[in-house]
Amino acid sequence: MSYKFIKDKLDNNKLVILDGAMGSELEKKGAQMDKNLWCGTCSVEFPELVKEVHQDYIEAGSDVITTNTYACTPISMKNYGMESSIKEFNKKSVQLGKKAIEDSKKKVALAGSVSASGSFYKLGLKAMIPGFNEQIKILTEEGVDLIILEAMSSQADIVQTMIECSAKVNIPVWLSISCVIDKKTNNLMLGYNDTVDEPPEVYEDLEKSIKRFSTIHKGPILIAHSDIDVTGKAINVAKNNYNGTIGAYPNIGFYEKPHWKSDDNLSPKDYLNEVKSWVQNGSQIVGGCCGVGVNLIKPLSILK
Ligand SMILES: [Zn+2]
Repeated sequence: MSYKFIKDKLDNNKLVILDGAMGSELEKKGAQMDKNLWCGTCSVEFPELVKEVHQDYIEAGSDVITTNTYACTPISMKNYGMESSIKEFNKKSVQLGKKAIEDSKKKVALAGSVSASGSFYKLGLKAMIPGFNEQIKILTEEGVDLIILEAMSSQADIVQTMIECSAKVNIPVWLSISCVIDKKTNNLMLGYNDTVDEPPEVYEDLEKSIKRFSTIHKGPILIAHSDIDVTGKAINVAKNNYNGTIGAYPNIGFYEKPHWKSDDNLSPKDYLNEVKSWVQNGSQIVGGCCGVGVNLIKPLSILK
């Protein structure tokens, strides 16, 4: 495992393919979701299935797979009385990713997912910092090739804090953020919309956010966990306001705790066409977030 072949691809304007969703693929294989940590508990309770999902994405052509650690944040695990398992869950998730790569004998990099899951805003920014630091430290020490700050659904100052916490690591750091249209103004905003019943959460103008983050973050910026419809627009905003690498991995469907409901109407061909347009607009890293399964990731290799 290494990051070098990814760097070479990015430096030479080649496309890098990410994996897709973990939770919904695990459910298809019969794993049970936890009411608090969603698929976060699966690395310990269904390790073989987590490894299988990783293997499926590697077979489907993913250059980068992501650890099943999005929901295993220290702040969230403490909140649910699982403080003593923080290390175990995060380490185990890295080990499963590494093993899947090792067994495949393919060149694949392992991204360690660091998220703000469970970082309730009311706690205040300061209270979140130890959790970000702790997860970054565990994943890095356990040997991931890069850190991906899955800051999606987070307010701008949380994203900024996550970036600051990642500044000390000596491996590459990618940043993913989500965006949504503000229905009142029709502006493209940093924010998200996960459910069908509630209005979107909107934080600040996406352009402003990208400008702000780009002063402290130099790695790839990815538009993630956003609707397909807004992803193309967001890529353009990112491209116009950031000189670094841009990527995208949108979601399809919506969340109904503790399950992500996929949109089965989107065919692999439709998804490929969407992704193709983003690549043409300068997105160099593509994959999928919630609801985007192996069947939608597999056709993307044709774009390489
Ligand atoms: Zn997602």
